[in-house]
Amino acid sequence: MKLRELIDKLEIEETLTTEEWTRLLNHFTQEDAAYAADKARTIADEIYGKEIYIRGLIEFTNYCKNDCYYCGIRRSNEKVERYRLTRGQILDCCHTGWKLGYRTFVLQGGEDGFYTDSWYQETIGKIKEAYPDCALTLSLGERSKESYQRLYDAGADRYLLRHETANQQHYGRLHPKELSLKNRKECLWGLREIGYQVGCGFMVGSPYQTSKELAEDMKFIHELKPHMVGIGPFIPQKDTPFAQETQGSLRLTLFLLSLIRIMEKHVLLPATTALGTIDPKGRELGILAGANVIMPNLSPVDVREKYKLYDNKICTGEEAAECRGCIDRRVTSIGYHIVSKRGDYKA
Ligand code: SAH
Repeated sequence: MKLRELIDKLEIEETLTTEEWTRLLNHFTQEDAAYAADKARTIADEIYGKEIYIRGLIEFTNYCKNDCYYCGIRRSNEKVERYRLTRGQILDCCHTGWKLGYRTFVLQGGEDGFYTDSWYQETIGKIKEAYPDCALTLSLGERSKESYQRLYDAGADRYLLRHETANQQHYGRLHPKELSLKNRKECLWGLREIGYQVGCGFMVGSPYQTSKELAEDMKFIHELKPHMVGIGPFIPQKDTPFAQETQGSLRLTLFLLSLIRIMEKHVLLPATTALGTIDPKGRELGILAGANVIMPNLSPVDVREKYKLYDNKICTGEEAAECRGCIDRRVTSIGYHIVSKRGDYKA
């Protein structure tokens, strides 16, 4: 079968064999990528039109008890100046965001034991009370199912937890031994069961990743059927064990975005900040490859520099309003437009 026929097969059957995935990912040409992007864009336009959803990302803590080898805020990185936002500061970010048209807020942070379930419950309650027309997404890492349930009952709508890699050996090469793929996957299944809209995802070009691992990622996504999938290139951070590793490629990230759209047609798919970091037009290209979400930063400017998961992260010096204007222009320049909506999954 020619590679284009594999892309057609994926569109119809929504799955490929491991052998087919690896062949496609190892041998695709620029023409194959353009063919996939075209298909992906047509599918996204049919479901979501020319609308691009925005999510205001609030990076509320960079304390983390984990030591993931790729991540700039891992606990062993002593060069990081640690910070925590107060509930008041988080609410201020939401206020700023709401005025700028955001109708989804994402609370993301390291796994910081300082914040208890009851602190989250109260914070979630306050946000939902002040902004009842907004969706609230959490990205707080691995917690117990009981805790996920409490936060859901408090009003959280969505949860982002990238699986990072669906291959167990590979997972072990990216994380210290106290972290396991099994637990990560159980968290994702639990979140789904509770009723969250869930997002999984992985880094493209993480160390030791080959098309075999990527094939497993695609199969896992198909199995989990998440509402959102976050992928972006791996980018080395200078104070981590992976400082000398090479970054993930633009070309492969864009191709994978298209394949995810073709496979999981309704999925909410962000053109990530990491993609915008490795190429000045990365996010626009991401949308043209099938993405339909952008997640601009709403964190206070004075902490942005400190939430550096990877080097050269963009938009760390800009006020929320400037970011918003810049994103608007970028999206308009390629024939799409930002909408001020919650942007839920369209079944
Ligand atoms: N603690 C939360 C949030 C993690 S940060 C959690 O565990 O889910 C969000 C994502 O950033 C991670 O899931 C990871 O995929 C990505 N990330 C971390 N370090 C990165 C790097 N060096 N390059 C690119 N992406 C990175």
